[in-house]
Amino acid sequence: MQATNPIWAEVQQSLQKTLSKPSFETWIRPAKFNCFENGLLTLIAPNSFSSDWLRKNYCETIEKAAKKICGHDVKVVFKSETNTSSDLTNEDKPNEKKVHHKTRSFSSNNQNNSPKNQFKNPNGLNLRYVFKRFVVGPNSRLAHAAALAVAESPGREFNPLFICGGVGLGKTHLMQAGHYRVEIDPEAKVKYVSTETFTNDVISGIRRDGMMAIRDKYRNVDLILIDDIQFLEGKEYTQEEFFHTFNALHESGSQIVIASDRPPNQLSGIQERLISRFSMGMTADIQPPDLETRTAILQKKAEQERMSLPRDLIQFIAGRFTSNIRELEGAFTRAVAFASITGLPMTVQSIAPMLDPNSVGVIVTPKQVINKVSDFFKVSTDELISSSRRKPVSQARQIGMYLMRHGTDLSLPRIGDEFGGKDHTTVMYAIEQVEKKLSIDPNIASQVQKIRDLLQIDSRKNL
Ligand code: ADP
Ligand code: MG
Repeated sequence: MQATNPIWAEVQQSLQKTLSKPSFETWIRPAKFNCFENGLLTLIAPNSFSSDWLRKNYCETIEKAAKKICGHDVKVVFKSETNTSSDLTNEDKPNEKKVHHKTRSFSSNNQNNSPKNQFKNPNGLNLRYVFKRFVVGPNSRLAHAAALAVAESPGREFNPLFICGGVGLGKTHLMQAGHYRVEIDPEAKVKYVSTETFTNDVISGIRRDGMMAIRDKYRNVDLILIDDIQFLEGKEYTQEEFFHTFNALHESGSQIVIASDRPPNQLSGIQERLISRFSMGMTADIQPPDLETRTAILQKKAEQERMSLPRDLIQFIAGRFTSNIRELEGAFTRAVAFASITGLPMTVQSIAPMLDPNSVGVIVTPKQVINKVSDFFKVSTDELISSSRRKPVSQARQIGMYLMRHGTDLSLPRIGDEFGGKDHTTVMYAIEQVEKKLSIDPNIASQVQKIRDLLQIDSRKNL
């Protein structure tokens, strides 16, 4: 129970004096004491969002306060009460016992996965993407039903299942939920792969003469989930290899699920024989969700994160972000982060101005974006536009591309040019990565918001 431990109670008291009231009330008060052993203080936050936030922003403060009280060094770790996103990928998990409810019911899907299944998950599969977390609306009913059907009875009539729809509408989520197959049949070999990874594998296979290994990797599965197939456009050799992979899998009765931002007949630069195979099974599209569905998605997210947002704020966000669920979720996360940083109340009036998706305006120049991002992350502009893959550099670059997309009217290829001649698919990928992080990582959300604010100040100077 909270504050039953005298040390944690004292730490809380001392932090209450030094932190602002909203920060204290939002983050520190709700954190419960779990245990204190060998200088290790374990606290439990009400949700993964809070535990991430505490870990990133308050760890040191708490450790210092605890050291003062105990007279020796104290380390703090955070756990969360709910099993949400970051819990599933959390580093400090191994000791935690997981309760695994084995079930085959339609709606319950694997929220948690047995450890065995987790290890069958080497491809960056996001364990949040399960059926249970997918809100079904009229826009996605068919795609949802089809995805569930192939997970339950793979390799039958819907083969391949081709899921298509615009950016951020849940294709990857639905497709990865197909991993449910492993819960039904623990022996099933399920593989998720992005077209980008497949392409890279083929390229390195050619280079190292290792096509056999690739064939082994991709043909020896029962259910394959291939994402963003539109990236095969114009890649002749990869298409060739994919064609044979597809045939081998199909002939052996393996289930194929493909996601694309367009229906098969609108894909250009892809061989006709592939297009006709894509259309052979079932094509299910996902449309942008209506207001009611968007509201339900936000409510579900609030529930999962154990956050309470006033109904009118939820409705406001749902009314504002209409065409991309990733942005909708991102707005939710930003609202919560913003309210807690500034101490402003969670009302439409206080949150609305920072949620404006176009708040940067089109008067920012690409140079301003580059300079501001470079200043903010302390990465030189040369490095920012280089091809360096160093994490801090590539992260700053991705955020720069995202802000340039929202702050200027440049097209994707032009943004690529501004960043030292990157391909437009790289820009698109970067923007998608940032959007993804914005919806789950409050730290990134607040960094992006800060740079937006700085840019806005600059843009006013331009007037
Ligand atoms: P896409 O692959 O179509 O670009 P994603 O599957 O990555 O989109 O979805 C973007 C985000 O929106 C993810 O965080 C996903 O969980 C969420 N999302 C999309 N559709 C739904 C839905 N119907 N219910 C709940 N969350 C959703
Ligand atoms: Mg996707």
